[in-house]
Amino acid sequence: MERCNMKRELGIARCGLACCLCSENAHCAGCNSGECPDKDWCKNRKCSKEKGIAGCWECENKDCREGLLGKVKPYAFTEFVRRYGLKELLDCLERNGKNGVVYHRSGIIGDYDDFEDIESAIAFIKTGKKA
Ligand code: SF4
Ligand code: SF4
Repeated sequence: MERCNMKRELGIARCGLACCLCSENAHCAGCNSGECPDKDWCKNRKCSKEKGIAGCWECENKDCREGLLGKVKPYAFTEFVRRYGLKELLDCLERNGKNGVVYHRSGIIGDYDDFEDIESAIAFIKTGKKA
């Protein structure tokens, strides 16, 4: 079984990416720390801050695909938090990690990047198994 290096306290970024599992998190303390390498161009960070919400999952604009939400993984993670809450996402990521699911296997690509639609990605987050 693979070791899971999850830093649960870093949580989920405003865009839905998992700071707690990000390969950059050795030198970045998460989205709200201002240390994300992408923070200067990130639309999701700027926009959600302006709206005074914790992340895109709290936004009333459920169909928004701005910035990182144009990609399946952060959009699926954001939708997962909308449906089931942040704690449930962190619990699933932690359990999956302990069972060998890898968030960043090669660069910024890992097991959660294998999906073309968000419902398949959400099902994988829940079960840790690919259909
Ligand atoms: S890409 Fe944007 S929202 Fe995501 S972690 Fe970086 S600064 Fe935060
Ligand atoms: S979902 Fe879209 S509109 Fe809402 S905070 Fe995020 S980037 Fe802004």
